[in-house]
Amino acid sequence: MPTQTTFPWQQIATQGVGAVLDTLSTEESMRLADEYGTHNYKPLPVNVVRGEGARVWDSEGVEYIDCIGAYSAVAHGHLSPAVVRALQEQLTRVTLVSRAFFSPELGLFLHALAEYTGLDMSCPMNSGAEANETCIKLARKWAYTVKGVPKDKAEIIVTTDNFHGRTTTIVGFSSETKYKEMFGPFGPGFVEVPYGDLAALEAAITPNTCAFLAEPLQAEGGIIIPPDGYLAGVRQLCDKHNMLLIWDEVQTGFGRTGRKFGWQWEDAEPDLMAVGKPLGGGVLPVSAAVGKRHVMEILEPGDHGSTFGGNPLAAAVGIAALAEMEVHDYAGRSERLGRRLAEGFRALNSPLVKEVRDRGLLVGVEVHSHVDSAALTKALLDERIVTKETRKRTFRFTPPIVTDEATIDEIIARVGRALAAVAAHA
Ligand SMILES: *Cc1c(COP(=O)(O)O)cnc(C)c1O
Repeated sequence: MPTQTTFPWQQIATQGVGAVLDTLSTEESMRLADEYGTHNYKPLPVNVVRGEGARVWDSEGVEYIDCIGAYSAVAHGHLSPAVVRALQEQLTRVTLVSRAFFSPELGLFLHALAEYTGLDMSCPMNSGAEANETCIKLARKWAYTVKGVPKDKAEIIVTTDNFHGRTTTIVGFSSETKYKEMFGPFGPGFVEVPYGDLAALEAAITPNTCAFLAEPLQAEGGIIIPPDGYLAGVRQLCDKHNMLLIWDEVQTGFGRTGRKFGWQWEDAEPDLMAVGKPLGGGVLPVSAAVGKRHVMEILEPGDHGSTFGGNPLAAAVGIAALAEMEVHDYAGRSERLGRRLAEGFRALNSPLVKEVRDRGLLVGVEVHSHVDSAALTKALLDERIVTKETRKRTFRFTPPIVTDEATIDEIIARVGRALAAVAAHA
């Protein structure tokens, strides 16, 4: 029996979703999100209706350069033709079978991940948080079955200002009050040390330590690049103390820092690595825990799982996304474009800017403490640049890696005008 409602069920069922989307104004889109959605985000006042490459458009037809790129998940650009082709082709085959079956897509995806990462095996998941949870479970089982840590005593060392996702286990070892304050109680098993400090890491190691988990560059934490030698030093400490090295490459991975993976800036190959974001080609959530065989093969049937993890549609998209990143050398492109962007920002010589930090096309512009960052966000929007602050008053620039030199120069010019506008009113 049809229910009494003003919701356009009938129109959607007969004419499709798009017919109704086209009737929604900007105000209505915002009102619906506000009324029917939780308020756990504070979005920019831009209602995106279309995207292509590094550009997005709102319903009034205003064009913006997307400098967030979905927190670096849109490395391939919006509607990457290669990714969209894989998606469409897969829609003629099969999309979801669960891990109760084999599929050629899953097999090829796992092989592609091993080839691209240089690691041996993967456990496919969906979100970055799940990939990290998978690494944590693997490290703990390794602790009990291989290292001989007494049951339930395994410790994982993490870093101050870490960001690994939003599950209750993960926020439990965040140092950001906002992420965790109201969400306890949290379980034990995580020890925090300052990021970039090898001596503090070594001092925190006990016989029960099974792993060190960190980002090779703290992205959410404010584009914090560790001191030279830190990545390799961490690897050496993990070897010395028989513990696993886990890099969270969810944001830094797949070329973003100018290397295939952020750890490749030094001799710091991990035992386990969490990947996600751009692995989905900008269209689907696709993530994985990737690692060395001796750790990965610890998992047995029933230990872990995900209904959607590794589904044929996600796997096909992941394969196409990986092929694009490999064949078109996203790492090299990111290094080249990132250097151009960071040098351009520095050459602006803005009195508002305290520091520009960059590794590849992961660029942070930190403004001085007296700068009104809300005014700067607004001035950037007026220049049709969308970006947001990370912690530590740092504006993040992570546009799609497929962008080009002309767009990079355009970003520099627009940011220069926005900084000048804010400086003029200060
Ligand atoms: C975004 C991010 C995550 C979480 O990924 P989700 O897909 O949002 O769960 C984890 N680690 C890092 C470093 C990230 O940037």
